[in-house]
Amino acid sequence: MVNKILLKYGKNMELLRKLPKIDKLIEENLFKDCSNKLVIKIAKMKVENLRLDILNGNISDFSYDDLIKNIKKEYEQILASSLIPLINATGVILHTNMGRSLISQEILDRASKNIVNYSNLEYDLQKGCRGERYEHVSKHFKSLLGVEDILIVNNNASAVFLILNTFAKEKEAIVSRGELVEIGGSFRIPEVMKNSGAILCEVGATNKTKLKDYEENINENTAMLMKVHKSNYTIEGFSDEVDFKDIKQLSQKHNLLDYYDLGSGYIPKLPYNLSAYEPTIDDILKHNPSLISFSGDKLFGSVQAGIIAGKKELIDKLKQNQLLRMLRVDKITLSILEETIKAYLEENYQDIPTLNMLFVNLKELEDRANKVIEEVGDGICKLVKTTTYMGGGTLPNKTFPSVAISIKGKANKLEKEFRKSNIIGRIENDKFLLDFRTILPQDDKQMIISIKEIIL
Ligand SMILES: *Cc1c(COP(=O)(O)O)cnc(C)c1O
Repeated sequence: MVNKILLKYGKNMELLRKLPKIDKLIEENLFKDCSNKLVIKIAKMKVENLRLDILNGNISDFSYDDLIKNIKKEYEQILASSLIPLINATGVILHTNMGRSLISQEILDRASKNIVNYSNLEYDLQKGCRGERYEHVSKHFKSLLGVEDILIVNNNASAVFLILNTFAKEKEAIVSRGELVEIGGSFRIPEVMKNSGAILCEVGATNKTKLKDYEENINENTAMLMKVHKSNYTIEGFSDEVDFKDIKQLSQKHNLLDYYDLGSGYIPKLPYNLSAYEPTIDDILKHNPSLISFSGDKLFGSVQAGIIAGKKELIDKLKQNQLLRMLRVDKITLSILEETIKAYLEENYQDIPTLNMLFVNLKELEDRANKVIEEVGDGICKLVKTTTYMGGGTLPNKTFPSVAISIKGKANKLEKEFRKSNIIGRIENDKFLLDFRTILPQDDKQMIISIKEIIL
């Protein structure tokens, strides 16, 4: 027994002596292009782990080569980008999980001058004193929408929160039961209202709300009538909702605020008759709303932002709310947003990828798909005329045509393999599809390479 312990102890001592010195270890050729500080940090941890394993008798030997390889591997893992580009071949243009709207290189380039240089973000060049951050985009936005004033916040969820907190705190905001939505990421309108301090007054039934329901619930504590766009669901069959036009009239009659959370707002009429299901911003502004809000990165096709438009006196009140400081946007957002609005003013829709993908000619998609098929061989994939969705909490259940290629083989297995190559496709009728509506033309070459790698 004693002998056995001594033997083990002796062996351990031997192994412990084998543990490399850190300052020797970092001299290895493998680390010649690495940051010393980070290598030392990882090496210390790995060697300490080995030391404990030896002392506890968990290991009877270790390999020096494996140790330095492991250190290098961990070094690379730490430095690898977490956020990486993907090819969206799902056909869903506003894919929330993949970043919603894309920004074009053109817009990014134009915006970058205000990001890499100092700017007049909050500096009044004429007076030589502090200026107003929100003036920049508001000038362009006012020309685009013809509204009295504009305010930009972090996202549309912030817009909803700020508006309710400013105008309906401890007061009632009347909303239809059919519009109490939950959108992705568990953003629930009723929860947001509660947290903002507003008292939610639900009216009507899930499937039917009438103007009378709003009117009968107005009391001395009512602050606003609110309409919320049904972004990710539809209520069909025996159903009824009140037009914003009528809500506006009713709120005017009772001297109340009206507010329409559009979710996704957009400018030009959409193709495939999609505008029949979701009004343009202009359609809503015709009714002269007190306030509207929408997302910057849904159909508007720009950066994440919440855009509030409406009456100047109300926007001024929002600006006085201390919360705005916490919801404010930085120069990167404002610069990109401003360039997007300028593209709209010039009707330069080519520079807005979201619109580009939506308005692209189907023939163009077909030509690109056929070219890929030609390159990889038609025994492997074939052209499919299919349909897709807009996504991102817009136009729920409304499909429109698209062009895809279906890849021969087991759909589930293919989905996994393409995903490993950073290509996200979709499965439809047990077929794995790559939809060209959302594949950027410059990625076609990479698609061909990846298909060949995976299939051939
Ligand atoms: C998407 C959406 C929001 C939230 O907008 P974000 O920009 O994602 O914060 C709020 N309300 C409605 C109706 C929406 O569709």
